Amino acid sequence: MSKQPEPITALYCRLSQEDAREGESNSIQNQRAILAKYAKENGFRNAQFYVDDGWSGVVFDRPGFLSMMEGVKNGTVKTIIVKDHSRLGRNRLVIGTLLEEDFERYGVRYIAIMDNIDSDKGLSDLVPMQDLFNEWHAKNTSQKVKSVMLSKGNAGIPLTTTIPFGYKKNPDGSKYWVVDEPAAKVVRRIFALCMDGYGPTQIAKILYRDQVPTPGEYWRGVGRKAGAAIPERPCQWATESVQHILGRMEYLGHTVNFRTHVKSFKNKRKVLNDPSEWKIFENTHEPIVDRSVWERVQELRKNKRRNTKIGKTSLFSGLLECADCGAKLYFCTSSVYTDESQDHFVCSHYRSNTGSCTAHFIRDIVLFDLVLAHLQQVLHYVRNYEDVFVQTMRKKSVEEQTQAIVEKRRTLERNGRRIAELDSLFRKAFEENAAGRISDERYLKLAAAYESEQGVLQRESVRLESELAEERQAAEDIDRFLSLVRSYTEIDTLSPTILHEFIEKIVVHAPDRSSGKRKQKVEIFYRFIGIFDLPDGDEMVEILRERRQRKLAEQPKTA
Ligand SMILES: [Zn+2]
Repeated sequence: MSKQPEPITALYCRLSQEDAREGESNSIQNQRAILAKYAKENGFRNAQFYVDDGWSGVVFDRPGFLSMMEGVKNGTVKTIIVKDHSRLGRNRLVIGTLLEEDFERYGVRYIAIMDNIDSDKGLSDLVPMQDLFNEWHAKNTSQKVKSVMLSKGNAGIPLTTTIPFGYKKNPDGSKYWVVDEPAAKVVRRIFALCMDGYGPTQIAKILYRDQVPTPGEYWRGVGRKAGAAIPERPCQWATESVQHILGRMEYLGHTVNFRTHVKSFKNKRKVLNDPSEWKIFENTHEPIVDRSVWERVQELRKNKRRNTKIGKTSLFSGLLECADCGAKLYFCTSSVYTDESQDHFVCSHYRSNTGSCTAHFIRDIVLFDLVLAHLQQVLHYVRNYEDVFVQTMRKKSVEEQTQAIVEKRRTLERNGRRIAELDSLFRKAFEENAAGRISDERYLKLAAAYESEQGVLQRESVRLESELAEERQAAEDIDRFLSLVRSYTEIDTLSPTILHEFIEKIVVHAPDRSSGKRKQKVEIFYRFIGIFDLPDGDEMVEILRERRQRKLAEQPKTA
């Protein structure tokens, strides 16, 4: 004789993070105690707890709740008891449907102890009111949280609850992060690998090969809560994690807020904001990655390099551009010859006979020697004649430059004052005219004159502002190039990192055979400074002479 299994009395507890902040009374432990006592004293048998710890009442995909509803639907759960009604949820529509349709349909008795609700005694009129109140509470907390977030976010305090890999909470309690050195090392390595020409998938493989723990594992190891699931194999990095790390601006030392928003207090799913809505606060914490490396990595990620069929790549892939059509040059290698000197590039718009461009053929090995030699000379020159270099880059001497900047600033100030003055003259003329003290004709003449003078001044100011901005940028670019040069002692060969740090692009011209010999122009665009022509012999003599004179002039005169 089979016996019907005894129905379950579900004792449901829920605690959200906001509830937890409000104190002990709603703690899971407290809820459990109340529910157990109530079930025992009122003769409810086969009691079973369903618990959702850390879940908001406005979402309904809570695991404990779902498993309890499973029981409701398959008929095993016949009674649901909660401490108070809001434990079940804080969305009036969903709760209403649950009470009025689902529970009734499945014959479930529902009890909310503190609110004095028992569906067996008829749902009181209080319930809809209670639901309204619960929803209002949720909305209110969500708005409170939102406005706190908004003011924090606008003040540049990091909003994200998951601190990026490489950083950790400041042990001194400050709201800004500090570098987590072991993790930061991995971040730096990922950027370095990318500079070396490896893509995210290859980087993930290298990290796995070297058994570098993933962020999730690393955090578990140091006792930080990690949301990510444990991968099947430890150290198995996902391509996406690597991509994510390579794109994070936080590694520059910046805080990025308002990257996502939550749709509404009922739908907690995060939606990505348009980057124009992001707020970036610079230098809020110590950077992990150098700015020039970070920027270069972003560029590299934009134009990913393609390998040839046999998987061979060139250092120069992606860097070469056709001088005539602007297309990229692509790498050609032979699987038959092992002779690397045959590896070469041609314009990607060129096909023998067809195609819209000529070959622009250049050998890989030729490029290598040429670029290495040029780079070595530039480095040597910049190191030994830094002052001359800065001067030629700025076209004028630093003193002349400074003088010009001062002059421009003065003109701008003067213009600003005159523009304001004209405004008030204009107003005055208007009033005089209105009062009948000057004729309409005179007024119109004056107004036209003021307006045209103001127009001229405004246009001039706009031009000066942009010139000053350009000069500032140029000075900054030269500084960045100098610090890049200083970061290398000697360069005796080319690596992908060196190339990507120094060189923006290389423009390859079509060969010129007019002299009877094959001549080919190649322009190297350095990062920050563009094309740099090294001085020839005569220019060098001149530079040295000027320099000696300046040194003499600077020497303190002794009486
Ligand atoms: Zn071309």
